[in-house]
Amino acid sequence: MYPDRVVANIRAFERIFTSAGVTGAIFYGKKANKAACVVRACAEAGCGVDVSSADELKAAKAGGIRGRDLMVTGPAKSDVLLQMATRDDALIAVDDLDELARSSTIGGPSRVLLRVLPPRSNSRFGMTEDELDLALRLTDTDSIRLHGFSFHLAGYEANPRADLALSLIERCHEGRRLGHPMTTISIGGGFGVDYVPSRAWETFLRGVNPRWFHGDRAPHPESYYPYHCPIPGPAMLAAILERSNLADRLRRSGIKLAIEPGRALLDQAGSSVFGIQGIKTRLAHGLPYHILTVNGTSLSLSEQWFDSEYLPDPVLWPQRPGNTTPTCVGGSSCLEDDMLSWRRIPLPRSATTEDLLIYPNTAGYQMDSNESSFHGLPLPPKVVLRSSPDGRQFDWNLDTDGFPI
Ligand SMILES: *Cc1c(COP(=O)(O)O)cnc(C)c1O
Repeated sequence: MYPDRVVANIRAFERIFTSAGVTGAIFYGKKANKAACVVRACAEAGCGVDVSSADELKAAKAGGIRGRDLMVTGPAKSDVLLQMATRDDALIAVDDLDELARSSTIGGPSRVLLRVLPPRSNSRFGMTEDELDLALRLTDTDSIRLHGFSFHLAGYEANPRADLALSLIERCHEGRRLGHPMTTISIGGGFGVDYVPSRAWETFLRGVNPRWFHGDRAPHPESYYPYHCPIPGPAMLAAILERSNLADRLRRSGIKLAIEPGRALLDQAGSSVFGIQGIKTRLAHGLPYHILTVNGTSLSLSEQWFDSEYLPDPVLWPQRPGNTTPTCVGGSSCLEDDMLSWRRIPLPRSATTEDLLIYPNTAGYQMDSNESSFHGLPLPPKVVLRSSPDGRQFDWNLDTDGFPI
């Protein structure tokens, strides 16, 4: 993990808010990576954290995040989580009326955003128009301070986010007339990451067929993450703010725009490193290829668990000349399906058990969302890389909740 990069990614989003003249608030979507060093980077950068369990909330506070800089999301939150959030003065994204009613009995006041079910969406999250109306009209302004709205859309498009935010500005004015502060609209996460150049991605999509994969097992073409993203992270925020003068409308209404990026704050902030335990040679369609077994499992490369595959090529280390060798990669468990890469990757040489295989840019969701100690294997440790102030030297320690070892 390289937390300096997280700070740089936060700064890049902040610059977009500043140049658009909009008051912004960034909450790191914590589920995208569990490392303590990421939360500490957020605290250092003055950025908030978006949590959805008591444990995530505690971890964020242990990493130095102030209660006011926490956002609490997730459906049907437990009473304990609602109480912790209220006591810490966190923003609570309330997902339905029952949660709102339970929050009002805590003795707050609780600071609340109402989560919106997007139009024409069949998401299980958020409230319908009628439910939002009831919430605005019936909420007791002593026990609940309604601070605005939040949503989180599927996909990676700027326009639907801008359009929904615009429509919620009107509703904020309505809420203010009813006595609520209505300070904030949160447009959630889903800021894309540009993993590979457009040429590489187009070439892959044009050529991909089952014969590229071990056992001819290609994922469904529609299940791939869009690994080339033409308008990633901060550029996507800029596009959202430019659409229909959203920036101007927010400024004139005195409304803060909150974002909850997970993956985008982790762009280039970590890689997964595997040792190679064994190498086999097999034939497919008349051609030889290698199957590597690495000292880890596909639980450390989560895309397999969405019936898909993490496509950026791993790097074989050390880099040495050799003959291109088609290679797929299996985990060290006894499950046939435990493959990190079914695709025969054209490694630049034949691998040996002395080498490392390094999957790049895996901090966002890949490396630890699904980790478990399956087979009694230990959870992979995280190494935190830090650079000296002049950027010329690196030091490292293991990621821990408390103090560097
Ligand atoms: C997962 C999630 C995020 C982060 O999403 P990314 O795609 O990683 O940016 C933000 N907000 C909510 C409510 C989420 O569930």
